[in-house]
Amino acid sequence: MKRVLVGSMLHETNTFNPMLTDLEEFRIRGLLFGDEILEKRRNTGTEMGGFIETLEEKNIEIVPSAHACPLPAGLVTTEALDTVLGAFIDTLDRTQVDGVLLAIHGAMVTQEQDDGEGYILKTIREKVGQDIPIIHTLDFHATLTPMMAENADAMTIYRTYPHMDMAERGREAAAMMARTLNGEINPVVVIVKRPLLIGPPHNVLPHDMPMKRIMDRAREMEAEIPGVIAACPAQGFMQQDVPYNGIGVAVTTDNNPELAKKCADELADMIFDKRKEFYVELPDPAETIRLALKSDNPPVAIADSGDNIGGGTPGDGTALLHEILRQGVDTAYVPICDPESARLAAEAGVGSTVTLEVGGKSHSLYGPPVKITGKVRTITDGLFLNRSWGGYWGGVIGNMGLSARIDVDRVTIVVTSYRISPDNIMHAKSIGVYPEDYRMSVCKGGLAFREAYKTPVVNSYIQSDTPGFASSNLKNFTFTKIKRPIYPLDDI
Ligand SMILES: [Zn+2]
Repeated sequence: MKRVLVGSMLHETNTFNPMLTDLEEFRIRGLLFGDEILEKRRNTGTEMGGFIETLEEKNIEIVPSAHACPLPAGLVTTEALDTVLGAFIDTLDRTQVDGVLLAIHGAMVTQEQDDGEGYILKTIREKVGQDIPIIHTLDFHATLTPMMAENADAMTIYRTYPHMDMAERGREAAAMMARTLNGEINPVVVIVKRPLLIGPPHNVLPHDMPMKRIMDRAREMEAEIPGVIAACPAQGFMQQDVPYNGIGVAVTTDNNPELAKKCADELADMIFDKRKEFYVELPDPAETIRLALKSDNPPVAIADSGDNIGGGTPGDGTALLHEILRQGVDTAYVPICDPESARLAAEAGVGSTVTLEVGGKSHSLYGPPVKITGKVRTITDGLFLNRSWGGYWGGVIGNMGLSARIDVDRVTIVVTSYRISPDNIMHAKSIGVYPEDYRMSVCKGGLAFREAYKTPVVNSYIQSDTPGFASSNLKNFTFTKIKRPIYPLDDI
């Protein structure tokens, strides 16, 4: 029986956010080791769920090592990286394996490594040598690097955004591993790059033009060109200042690097040629709320794009809440990460009236706090089960910490102790909030929330140009490490 190490280290690092991603942040989101991984991730909508299902089906022994999925934020600490990578190496020290299968994001930056995943792959490659296959998945927002291609045999990348194919990609990667171990294929992967920064909240969805044509061509290559195993564009993650930032394409073929390079170049050129079509002008917060009030297709979901938690922000920005109250919006739902307000509301108790200064405490870009007086309606410990019909992470427990729902007339503000990315509608429903009941909901996200917030929950979207570390306007950032020239920082 063949034996495969499985592990996971998923982090999208916003290098403009000074808040480090430390071990505590890892623990809040579930840092798992050994058999715990099988217990907590079997039958879930995650890559690990897909790995487990397919490896068991193929009769391959699973050697679970470590699993970490901290929320995006600033640089990952060296201690946190060493804990997970150290566990991978310990597992390899203890157990002889025939393959290594990893779920990694591809946009992790640590205190010492600009290319976190390249470093993980290189360290494992040095440990296991050239003969043990290393295969992995990546997020659609991976910053592809040469070090990743040099140290992996094959890779596959999410094809959806919102990322609803995590488990499917896990099954795909595990199937590639099984075929490799059986001697059916001898995979090789090539990565190419182009100097282009794109990302949410712009016009970048893979199921819409112009990206759709490129994704369709990738599927066509896999179906029609003999030897192409996986043809995968990656959009990268705009808000990080690292040398290799920018779009890339990874193509895995059956022992044919020339073919892989040719296909990757074709797809990368297709993306680069469309560079001007990805960018769109967005309304500022005041204009956003005016547009939402005038919408003839409510309920409206508003993307607080500068405070996109999935893009590594604090989640306590008040720009939209301020406008909602200033413009006298009748019904709205606004979540804010503010542990102090959550505690004060909980101490006051359900049914009491509280006056609080909410949000705007993490950084001047996200403030100032907004003074509210409202009624505490619900208090929870913030634990909830993500449902498969509600968006990402089906079957996985979510954790927003001690949380309180406060109603200011019919404007509902939910203050949470931990940040929660609105990727699954259960974050709202678990505290008694049904966004379909409000004229507008603020989503602290870029585009990923659209699987959770779709008809009948909301009927339309507005992307707002709010301030913050995930701002849609790259002119707000100072890049020093990134290779120049690159569009749109440079007019190429
Ligand atoms: Zn992503």
